[in-house]
Amino acid sequence: MKKLSMVILATTVLGAALAGCGGTKDNASSTEPSVGVAIYKFDDTFMTGVRNSIEKYAKGIAKVDIVDSQNSQPTQNDKIDLFLTKNTKSLIVNPVDRTAAGVIIDKAKAKDAPVVFLNREPLPEDMKKWDKVYYVGAKAEESGTLEGGLVVDYWKAHPEADKNKDGVLQYVMLKGEPGHQDAESRTKFSIKAVEDAGIKVEKLAEDTAMWDRVKGQEKMAAFLAAHGDKIEAVFANNDDMALGAVEALKAAGYFKGDKYVPVVGVDATAPALQALGDGTLLGTVLNDANNQGKAAVTLASLLAQGKEITKDSVGYEVTDKQFIWIPYKKITKENMSEVK
Ligand code: BGC
Ligand code: CA
Repeated sequence: MKKLSMVILATTVLGAALAGCGGTKDNASSTEPSVGVAIYKFDDTFMTGVRNSIEKYAKGIAKVDIVDSQNSQPTQNDKIDLFLTKNTKSLIVNPVDRTAAGVIIDKAKAKDAPVVFLNREPLPEDMKKWDKVYYVGAKAEESGTLEGGLVVDYWKAHPEADKNKDGVLQYVMLKGEPGHQDAESRTKFSIKAVEDAGIKVEKLAEDTAMWDRVKGQEKMAAFLAAHGDKIEAVFANNDDMALGAVEALKAAGYFKGDKYVPVVGVDATAPALQALGDGTLLGTVLNDANNQGKAAVTLASLLAQGKEITKDSVGYEVTDKQFIWIPYKKITKENMSEVK
C-alpha cells in the first residue's frame, strides 16, 4: 500500500513537472515564434545598424536567428532552405539580388512561412505573388530629393560655390550597387532636385563604389586626378562612400583654409555624424535603421503567429496591405542631435 502511494505520488509529481515544462515551452513558443533573418552581408555599415535593431526589438516577441548571406544569392538561398526545413515560422530577408525575391517567395509559400523583405525592394510582380509578402523600407526617391536639397541650400547660400563662375554646378557622383533601387533613384532624384531648383548642372564623372568606403576613396581620388578643382559638389549614394570621398579630398588638401567642396551622403551613420560635426561632410539623410529593424521584426512576429496586420498591431502605417514605409529626414550639423 505504502509502495503504491509512493508510486502514485512519484507519477503525480513527475506528471506535474512535465506538464509544467510543457506549459512553459508552449507559452514561450506562442509568444516568441522562430523568425529566420537573412542579411545580404554583415559587412555593411547601414545593415549592421538594422541588424542591431532587429536583435534589440526581438526581445520578448521573437526568437531570431540572423545569418550572413556573404553577398552571394546562392548562399542566401541555401540559408533560407535551411530555415524552412527547421521550425521557422516567418522570414525577414534582405536579398542579395532583389530580383531573386520571386524564387524566395515560392520557397516560403510552399511552407506557408510569410516573408518580410527589407532594404532591397522586390519587383512589383514578385510582391503580387503572395499576400503574405511584405516590404519594409524607405522611399528611394525621397532620399535622393532630400540629398539634392542639401546641395541646393548650400549653392544658394554660398555664391563662391560656383568656383569657375559659369553659373553651372559641376558635380561628381559616387553610385551604390547598380540595380539597387536606392542607388538608381538617389542618383537620379538628387540631381533632379537641383535642376528643379533652377540650377544648371554638369556631370563631370560618375562611377559605382558599391556602397563601400574604401572604393569611394579610390574613385574620388581618380575623379580628383581627372578634374581637380573643377569639382563643385560631390554626391554619394550613401555615407560610407561619402566618407571615402572625404578621405581622398583631405589627402588632396581640402577642408583646410578655404579649400572646400560640399560632400553629401545618405544614412546618417555614427561616423557620418562625426564628420558633420567636423565640417567635412556637408549633410546627409537619415535612413532610419532603428525603425526599419523594429518594424520588420514586429511584423515578422505577428505574421508568424497568424495575427492580423493593422496599423494598431504593428505600430506602423501599412500601405497597400504589403508595405511599411519609414520616412527619411534631412540632416545637417544644425539638427544632427535629433539622430540618436
Ligand atoms: C544604404 C546603404 C547600404 C545599402 C545596402 C542602402 O539603403 O543607404 O548604405 O549599403 O542600403 O543594401
Ligand atoms: Ca561652375
